[in-house]
Amino acid sequence: MPDALSPKPKTVAILGAGPVGLAAAAHVLERGMQPVVLEAGPQIGHAVRQWSHVPLFSPWEYAIDRASERLLVAAGWNSPPPHQYPTGGELLAQYLEPLATRTPLKDHIRTSSMVTSVGRAGFDKMKSNGRAFEPFTIRYQNGKGPEQLKADAVIDATGTWFSPNPAGADGLPAIGEREQQERIAYGMPDVLGRERARYAGRTVAVLGAGHSAIGTLIELVRLKDEAPGTEVIWLLRGTAPEKAFGGGANDKLAARGALGAAFAKLVMDGKICVETGFRVSHIGREGDKLRVGSGSGSCGRFVAVDELVVATGFRPDFDFLREVRLSLDPAVECPPILAPLIDPNIHSCGTVRPHGARELAQPEPGFYFAGMKSYGRAPTFLMLTGYEQVRSIVADIAGDREAAERVELVLPETGVCSGPGPEANLADVGKADAAGCCGGPAPTTPDAVSGCCVADVKAKQDGKKGCGC
Ligand SMILES: Cc1cc2nc3c(=O)[nH]c(=O)nc-3n(C[C@H](O)[C@H](O)[C@H](O)COP(=O)(O)OP(=O)(O)OC[C@H]3O[C@@H](n4cnc5c(N)ncnc54)[C@H](O)[C@@H]3O)c2cc1C
Repeated sequence: MPDALSPKPKTVAILGAGPVGLAAAAHVLERGMQPVVLEAGPQIGHAVRQWSHVPLFSPWEYAIDRASERLLVAAGWNSPPPHQYPTGGELLAQYLEPLATRTPLKDHIRTSSMVTSVGRAGFDKMKSNGRAFEPFTIRYQNGKGPEQLKADAVIDATGTWFSPNPAGADGLPAIGEREQQERIAYGMPDVLGRERARYAGRTVAVLGAGHSAIGTLIELVRLKDEAPGTEVIWLLRGTAPEKAFGGGANDKLAARGALGAAFAKLVMDGKICVETGFRVSHIGREGDKLRVGSGSGSCGRFVAVDELVVATGFRPDFDFLREVRLSLDPAVECPPILAPLIDPNIHSCGTVRPHGARELAQPEPGFYFAGMKSYGRAPTFLMLTGYEQVRSIVADIAGDREAAERVELVLPETGVCSGPGPEANLADVGKADAAGCCGGPAPTTPDAVSGCCVADVKAKQDGKKGCGC
């Protein structure tokens, strides 16, 4: 609701029309404010479209935002069966597209509108006095030239899909990586569908150890069964393949647990050639093959492949936020208060206590990160977390502090709870102790020091350091 001092409803610019950006818009509308959603792609859900072939590991009940659901129900929508698992394509067709086209949100979305910069009207980054009282200026390109709009608050929900990490083990592109782009794909190419012809009958290496790498490797083994001559190589930076097998039956997201278990079996059965300790340093050509090298000199080795799929995660793009005052964890590139909860150096557990406006706010008043981007480089983001984030953020923007502080979510456990691995350094071990670890579901208290799981909170209440798992 507009507050008494400003009868004009606030305008909230929402950057990105993915699941979380659209949910943010639904909450803004519900509170009587004006959302303006700017989406770079030609259609909403542009990032989800790139992985539309991938089955979600969480069922429908964890994929739908409540404010969005209320808008959809009012428009005569039939909700999908809560316990079924949609693909990315079904998420678009049965939820995101109806939300964007059949509810009042449709008048607030601008597609083909790539945000290029955000600033504060009349204030460069250095200037402080009176800064908080001025609106934001948002510049974007829509094919007709540069456009600009003003907004009272900004929610950056632009995700990370379009800024994948490179193959290079040191975080930089491997030498030669840029030159060999035509044989390299990032993320999760549709190897059984749209891009089948590119991979069938070829030797394909997949680099990475997360869910995207595993999903692609499983699909490539299916392709191998159907298309003779297909060979699958898993390039792993670490030395322990079993770390990628996940929580199995302990994962409350059963489909995610099953994915890890199915993958483990394929590796045990020798369907996938595994190269551990492979830290990509060079990529070049050897005749018709791509030569992917790890290390140099007498310790160096290489694989010769037709195609390389790089699934080493994603990183947020801050280039267009150069004029916004940001505070970010130096490693994870997320709001600092979130870092100990999601930093994979500290624990691999995906059980993250729900959080909202307080954790996601930035030194720039009225500016918030939400969705996948709010996790920076951490890989464990869940849509449901994002929906709770934007409920709280929008309450904060509306001036409803009580609702902003309240936590309305219990997240499913991953069952994958480990402390720092053998490669973690001592500083990380210290941080792990301070942060506690994982055991039991995420607690529902918003208190940042309480811990990341029920067992951790209980142990601290009993005067111990934390659950220590
Ligand atoms: C393969 C895969 C499977 C996943 N499965 C699950 C799952 O089962 N369950 C789950 O809970 N989570 C899952 N996730 C994680 C996460 O929930 C999704 O990535 C989700 O799409 C994140 O939503 P988002 O709105 O934050 O970002 P995105 O969906 O990435 O949306 C961001 C949007 O911003 C737009 N954009 C980017 N830059 C700009 C710009 N400069 N200007 C304007 N617009 C811009 C993009 O085009 C995009 O449409 C999965 C992720 C991946 C990659």
